[in-house]
Amino acid sequence: MKETIKPQKFKFKAEVSQLLEILTHSLYTHRDVFIRELISNAADALDKVRFMEVRGDTISDPDLALEIRIDIDKEAGILTISDTGVGMTRDELTGNIGTIARSGTSEFVKQMAEGGEQAVNLIGRFGVGFYSVFMAAQEVEITTKSATPEEPAWVWISDGRGSYQIREAAEKTGRGTRIRVILREDTKEFAEEFRVKSTIEKYSSFVPFPIFIGKEQVNKIQAIWREPRSKVKKDQYHEFFKFIAHQSDDPMTWLHFSADVPLQFHALLFVPKTNFELMGFGREDDGIHLFVRRVLIDAHSKDVLPAYLRFMRGVLESDDLPLNISRETLQENPYMMKIRAAIVKKLLSHLEEFAEKEPEEYKKFWRAHGRILKEGYNDFQHKDQIAETFRFNSSKCRDADELVSLKTYVERMPEKQGEIVFLSGPSREALEANPAVEIFRVKDIEVLYCYDPIDEFVLPGLITYRDKQILSADQVDLKKLADIPVRDGDQKEAETGPDKKDLEKLARRMKDILGERVESVRLSERLIGSPAMLVGASDAMSAQMEKIMQMMNKDAKPSAKILEINPGHGMIRNLLTLYEKNPADLLLTKLVEGLYTSVLLLDGSAEHPEAMAASIQALIGETARLVLDEKTE
Ligand code: ADP
Ligand code: MG
Repeated sequence: MKETIKPQKFKFKAEVSQLLEILTHSLYTHRDVFIRELISNAADALDKVRFMEVRGDTISDPDLALEIRIDIDKEAGILTISDTGVGMTRDELTGNIGTIARSGTSEFVKQMAEGGEQAVNLIGRFGVGFYSVFMAAQEVEITTKSATPEEPAWVWISDGRGSYQIREAAEKTGRGTRIRVILREDTKEFAEEFRVKSTIEKYSSFVPFPIFIGKEQVNKIQAIWREPRSKVKKDQYHEFFKFIAHQSDDPMTWLHFSADVPLQFHALLFVPKTNFELMGFGREDDGIHLFVRRVLIDAHSKDVLPAYLRFMRGVLESDDLPLNISRETLQENPYMMKIRAAIVKKLLSHLEEFAEKEPEEYKKFWRAHGRILKEGYNDFQHKDQIAETFRFNSSKCRDADELVSLKTYVERMPEKQGEIVFLSGPSREALEANPAVEIFRVKDIEVLYCYDPIDEFVLPGLITYRDKQILSADQVDLKKLADIPVRDGDQKEAETGPDKKDLEKLARRMKDILGERVESVRLSERLIGSPAMLVGASDAMSAQMEKIMQMMNKDAKPSAKILEINPGHGMIRNLLTLYEKNPADLLLTKLVEGLYTSVLLLDGSAEHPEAMAASIQALIGETARLVLDEKTE
């Protein structure tokens, strides 16, 4: 045999070498995963030729049947997996095998390096499934011929130790890819037919092309999404989910339904237990498998569901979409838009039902995916339904773990309460200590506690829920609360405090001391137990808008807020006494500064904790000195 071109040697990229090192030397379980990964690649390659065919592309060897063949040479310890798929050109070979292109993969490699034997089971999610072959192989030989006509066939050989070789194939081959796995002594089990068969049953029973071992087809082709629901068993749903989502857990819940008129489609959509995006693994695996007349048009279609449902996995098949539709026009396709609206509606009601039937499971769902689902607040078409799926912690929950729906919130609103009230802050402790909550607590008004910065957009973004306005606690008009009775045992302190006029003088002096840092200082109507708090100036931007501005522009200065002081609070009365003795008292100045600093901390506006600590310490020092000076005078 004559070789037309000399073999060329290439080094694996550093991150590939690192991955291979782990795969070959430290993983001893889940080795059978490599068979699943090679078959899955073969199936992807077959999907791609089928797609080229229906698009009308000219392809090489158009008469070849679309199938996967497995040959076992027990004596030699060689397992060969062949497909008649798209194959690879020389550039594709070097580009697709030998590099890692996806984001999230390095995080995955790190997890495996840290002893994640389980992690290897997820390898297919990270665009590096092929390399799993080196868990079993001492050498791998790929022979591949592209579906692009006139392309020669290529041979790729590697022992997985740092480099690989590519040469033009000497012998003539047909379209597709053949992967010869020369097994190691300790992995010879994979040259046993029963072992290979059982692996295929375990992982690859949903591969949509025939898999042959010798003459025998070892898989049934099951498009379960086209079956009636009553015919599909729970286990089949579980297995199918694991197959298409490349995950090892069962799904949390799923929705399977078909429609005929006026829209024709089959949908099978799963909610996974884990949200890989939120775990920092990137979004590469996003999307739904979209089939048109049995042809896989896109394995990661982003057009089937809106972005806020991107944690879903599954299949949509419709015979009424054009086969040659491009991914660009799909999004705008009116038929697709109608299907999408129908699916979203169904899916959101499914989630509502799920929440009702299995509240504990729904909590897990919300913890896993709520962060992304919340992005749906601005989908006006489904706003009402989306709001039903939201959950928050609140002042009426026993602990930070309990969640409340907007529906429950509204149902237990006191009769005269007009609005839905929320407040955001870093934690339950922080919000419980926030003076802005006090007035609501004594009036028995529930406050939704929002710990996620996105809630600041989500809740005001909904604007209303069941005709109730949604307002941040500092935006609620306190006059409207006047009619709501105070909760038993929580009587506001008797208003026999100092004269209002005197207090107003103190407030003016405090404004002098604080200068530009506050918009004004005024007597509070809302404070119960706390001496003071900051509220947004009514004509200024809402606190939420302000945060948006600051996110967009780091240099944007927060606008000055109003300092409210509690006329009934002992500390304020003491300050008044100091003021009345001597309005220019230096101690008074220092104490007002200190009060302001503490209030900033409570407000969560403490941008420079080190500066604040320094100012508190300076205050302690100077106060002590002032008191001592007074005593020695
Ligand atoms: P992924 O399948 O997630 O892309 P893999 O590491 O399994 O990651 O495969 C890398 C790439 O190698 C594939 O995307 C594909 O382009 C190519 N490839 C692997 N196996 C085959 C095959 N049997 N036929 C054609 N191309 C293949
Ligand atoms: Mg793969």
